[in-house]
Amino acid sequence: MSAVPTCCGRFAPSPTGDLHFGSLLAALASCLEARARGGRWLARMEDMDTPRNAPGADTRILACLEAHGFHWDGAVLRQSRRLEAYQAALAMLREKRLAYPCACSRKEIAAAAPGLAIDGGLRYSGRCRQGLPAGRGARAWRLRVEDREIAFDDRILGRMAQNLARDVGDFVLWRADGQFAYQLAVVVDDAFQGVTQVVRGADLLHSTPRQIYLQGLLDLPTPEYAHVPIATNAAGEKLSKQTRASPLQAHHAAANLVAALAFLGQRPPPELARTSVDEVWRWASAHWTLRGRQ
Ligand code: GLU
Repeated sequence: MSAVPTCCGRFAPSPTGDLHFGSLLAALASCLEARARGGRWLARMEDMDTPRNAPGADTRILACLEAHGFHWDGAVLRQSRRLEAYQAALAMLREKRLAYPCACSRKEIAAAAPGLAIDGGLRYSGRCRQGLPAGRGARAWRLRVEDREIAFDDRILGRMAQNLARDVGDFVLWRADGQFAYQLAVVVDDAFQGVTQVVRGADLLHSTPRQIYLQGLLDLPTPEYAHVPIATNAAGEKLSKQTRASPLQAHHAAANLVAALAFLGQRPPPELARTSVDEVWRWASAHWTLRGRQ
């Protein structure tokens, strides 16, 4: 009899700034869902993108999570220490001739782009697919994608489908600035950490088919996915460091958690915000149901 993998969720912040309400939603939903299913919940610091890391943000994020009553299992996995694993995955894709070197500059990519990708970026024309142009060196490595539908059942949003060739194009695994791409690292790490359910913001929904495709090529299991609604500011922009989302205040932890629960469709009683962090977690654990915004 094969062992059923233990349910395992994770929260994977990038230390580009402090924890804000938008990241609290992903942390809370992923944690409550993992715990409701008797599972483990892990923290992973996606700190590979060194130029974008804010000094001290990783320590402040973890302290802020603790102040909000989060307890992750085991040690925090840091992507900056996992470069060999990403290198091995890239080597495997290169060996299978699924990854190819690309010489194109940003300007060339823009000039030849057959249109926009589903996430608003530029779709790659495939110019270097058949080999590097004469006299040119590799700047990046890309993954050869297929012209077929990749579908999955999102636990909140239902059936989702994407055709990578049409909607994304051959995407980058190793970036021109010498960094591994998020899509590769996240897939390698979710498998390494034994993650069976990914609960995160819907801003990453369009990335999921790329990740499922990579899991298939690397012989890695595909977790379940649920994408929670994303919080926006008054201008309708996603809360992020770029839109100057305000950092969460630890002394408002109970109220922050209650606001996040309400955003996640949980209907907490308003007076809960004036109790303690422990009280909010007790209520949340007893009432949690994964759902979209009500
Ligand atoms: N590090 C990513 C972020 O902060 C999240 C990655 C993920 O949950 O897959 O947006």
